[in-house]
Amino acid sequence: MLKKEYSKDLSKLNTFGMKVTARYFYEYDSLADLLDLDFEELVGPVKHIGGGSNLLFTGDFKGTILHSAIRFTEVLSESSDEVLVSVGSGVVFDDFCAWAASKGLWGAENLSLIPGEVGASAVQNIGAYGVEVKDIIRTVFCYDTQEEEMVRFEVSDCAYEYRDSFFKHADGRYIVTHVVFALQKGYSPKLDYGNIRAALGLAPDSDTDRASLTPQQVRDAIIRIRREKLPEPGKVGSAGSFFKNPVVPRSKYEEVCASVPADTKVPHYEVGDMIKIPAGWLIEQCGWKGKRSGNAGVWDKQALVLVNATGQALPEEIVRLENKIIVSVRDRFGIELSPEVEHL
Ligand SMILES: Cc1cc2nc3c(=O)[nH]c(=O)nc-3n(C[C@H](O)[C@H](O)[C@H](O)COP(=O)(O)OP(=O)(O)OC[C@H]3O[C@@H](n4cnc5c(N)ncnc54)[C@H](O)[C@@H]3O)c2cc1C
Repeated sequence: MLKKEYSKDLSKLNTFGMKVTARYFYEYDSLADLLDLDFEELVGPVKHIGGGSNLLFTGDFKGTILHSAIRFTEVLSESSDEVLVSVGSGVVFDDFCAWAASKGLWGAENLSLIPGEVGASAVQNIGAYGVEVKDIIRTVFCYDTQEEEMVRFEVSDCAYEYRDSFFKHADGRYIVTHVVFALQKGYSPKLDYGNIRAALGLAPDSDTDRASLTPQQVRDAIIRIRREKLPEPGKVGSAGSFFKNPVVPRSKYEEVCASVPADTKVPHYEVGDMIKIPAGWLIEQCGWKGKRSGNAGVWDKQALVLVNATGQALPEEIVRLENKIIVSVRDRFGIELSPEVEHL
C-alpha cells in the first residue's frame, strides 16, 4: 500500500523531536508500491528518510519525504557456521539485533540500541563498540531512481568507510529496499572495546573463549552501557553524536597538548599520519558539557550530543547552539568542527 499525506507532521519521524512538517509524505510497504512511484512527478526536493535519527530538520520541508515500511526478516540460507538473513529497509535496526540475539546468532549484538532503520544502517555504515554494520552486511538491494531498476551491491561495492558509504555520495539516487546480513553460529563475541568486559562482570584480561557468553548477554550489556551514556530517543530529543571527530595534522595535536595543563591527557587516535581528536573532548574543554542555550542543550553525560532539552526547541535554537560550539572550539583550539548530523 502507498500512503500519501499532505502537510505531514514529522515530529515523530525525527529523534530531535523538531515540530516540522513535510509538504508531501509518501510511505510504501512493498517493493511493488515503490516501483509504482513516478519520481519525475514528485514535488522536489525529494528525500528518503528512515527513523530521522541522524537528521536535523532546520524548518518545514518544502518537497517530498519518502519512507519505507517494508518490514520482513527472512532466513535465506543456513550452513554449518553462517546464517544469511534478508531484512526489509523499514525494519527498526534494533529489532533485527534483538531477533539475531534471540536466535543465538552472533554479529549484530554490539550494534544493539543504535536508533534508526535497516535501510539507513547500510547507508550510514553504523558502528559501535568495535563493530561496524559492514562487518555483517553481505548484499544491499536498492532501487535505482535514475535507471528505474533494482540493483544489488555486494559489500565490497559499497565503499564503506567510517560512517560513510558509496550511497551517501549518490545524491539520493539509490533507495535501499532490503539488506542481506551474514550472522555467525560459532561463538564469536567482540569484547575488546570500551567497558564491555566490565559490564559483563569479566576481568579486563579474561579469556573470552572461556566466558561462554550468549549474544543475548552481550546485547544486554551493550544496552546497559548505552542507556547510561546516551539520551533515550522518545525521552530526550537528540541525533546522537552531533559533530564528526576532527582529524588534524600531528603539529595541530601538539599545539592542543601545549594549550592544556601539563597533567591533562589529550585523548587521540592515530589515523595514518594524522591524529583524530574526539570532538566531545574538545567541546567539554570549552565548558559546554551540560550547558543550556534556550531550549537547546549539551547532554550532561556526553558533550558530543546536542539535545532538545525541554522538548520545545526550535530548529534555529539547535543551529544557534551548534554555531556557538563551533566558534568556541575554533577560538580555543583553532580546530574547525563539522556536523555529523545531516541538516535538511
Ligand atoms: C541517541 C542516538 C544514538 C546514536 N548512536 C549511534 C551509534 O552508536 N552509532 C552510529 O553509527 N550512529 C548512531 N546514531 C545515529 C543514527 O542512529 C544512525 O545514523 C542511523 O543509521 C540513522 O538511521 P535512520 O533510520 O534514523 O536514518 P535517517 O536519520 O532518517 O537518515 C539517515 C540517512 O540515510 C538515508 N536513508 C534513510 N533510509 C534510506 C533508504 N531506505 N534508502 C536510502 N537512503 C536512506 C537518509 O536519506 C539520510 O541521508 C545515534 C543516534 C541517536 C539519536
